Amino acid sequence: MKILCVLYDDPVSGYPKTYARDDLPELPGYPGGQTLPTPSSVDFTPGHLLGSVSGELGLRSFLESQGHELVVTSDKDRDGSEFDRRLADADVVISQPFWPAYLTAERFARAPRLKLALTAGIGSDHVDLDAAIAHGVTVAEVTYCNSISVAEHVVMSILNLVRNFVPSHQIVLDGGWNIADAVARSYDVEGMHVGTVAAGRIGLAVLKRLAPFDMHLHYTDRHRLPLEVEEELGLTFHASAADMVPHCDVVTINAPLHPETEGLFDDELIATMKRGAYLVNTARARIADRDAVVRALQSGRLAGYAGDVWFPQPAPSDHPWRTMPNHGMTPHISGSSLSAQARYAAGTREILESFFAGTPIRDEYLIVDGGKLAGTGAHSYAVRG
Ligand code: NDP
Repeated sequence: MKILCVLYDDPVSGYPKTYARDDLPELPGYPGGQTLPTPSSVDFTPGHLLGSVSGELGLRSFLESQGHELVVTSDKDRDGSEFDRRLADADVVISQPFWPAYLTAERFARAPRLKLALTAGIGSDHVDLDAAIAHGVTVAEVTYCNSISVAEHVVMSILNLVRNFVPSHQIVLDGGWNIADAVARSYDVEGMHVGTVAAGRIGLAVLKRLAPFDMHLHYTDRHRLPLEVEEELGLTFHASAADMVPHCDVVTINAPLHPETEGLFDDELIATMKRGAYLVNTARARIADRDAVVRALQSGRLAGYAGDVWFPQPAPSDHPWRTMPNHGMTPHISGSSLSAQARYAAGTREILESFFAGTPIRDEYLIVDGGKLAGTGAHSYAVRG
């Protein structure tokens, strides 16, 4: 089979020869009991850079030893890109949210052999799920592989914004010492109200991590958490984002992008937030209206916005989120730490092993299968229908 894998570019300084640390911690499993990926074996060193082109997700020797052909490229967007050229005879496309190979309906039509669209990460919104359903293509992702990585980034971003870390660091880089400039926008999170839109794997992990900061915790979700979880963490449930956000000093978005969430944070919803609220979005850029966010930062309705998700990706150099005031944006990195890469590379191999053997792909990895939403997809996504 032909496997077409689209990954982000290698470091500009070249593929690393050494690393900052020698190993990764051993984890017993994911919170809640889901097991870590279980491929038959792996051919890479956990902690090495696997997510860029030369890292190849550690798949080459495994695939070639079984007679498959692997093409890895970062060239996905320009007219006549390698991705577009290779699509016609690809059986499997592997892509990542960080550097998404957008599988549009038009591309599905040009990929007659495609059977599996595999997301080496979480979030398959770069795949047109309606088109996947129509073409009978299975969509799978490595559920849970980087949920905790993202939750850590969310907590970091909240602290960064509220405590005004980035401008304070810039003062140091600039050789300065003006404490007043740094602290004139700096607060404590203690006692603030923080709410998450969605309390799935990431959202709940964020709430758990923020509880020790003595914040008041709020959430909204399509399904309510078990009562004992609400009681243990002292959570306040709200029926909708609109109900929740007026109560919050900090809002974090942790829902998938699908028709129900697209454009949710528009001018209207943001206008109901407290003046000086902070918004952290590591879910998907298009859950927020790009220009409404810029306007809210300029007017002071929002005191800060942070996250790592943009549209499109990579973001153009003139994307307004690069230059808007009081932001803590990064490229799409939160779910691609070296720790996360080891898990999603192993999970990708596990899914491929099942696919080649014709054995079921774990239900928790499935988004679309058999011409309909399946597994995790049936639980967390919606389609236009
Ligand atoms: P989960 O599937 O565990 O959680 C998603 C939650 O969103 C579910 O609880 C789901 O509800 C809820 N939800 C869906 N639609 C709505 C809605 N309209 N309103 C409120 N809640 C809703 O996924 P994860 O927590 O692991 O990941 C969440 C998202 O984060 C991913 O879809 C992805 O877009 C993004 N992500 C970003 C990464 C990054 O690197 N920045 C990496 C990984 C993920 P229920 O199931 O109860 O119906």
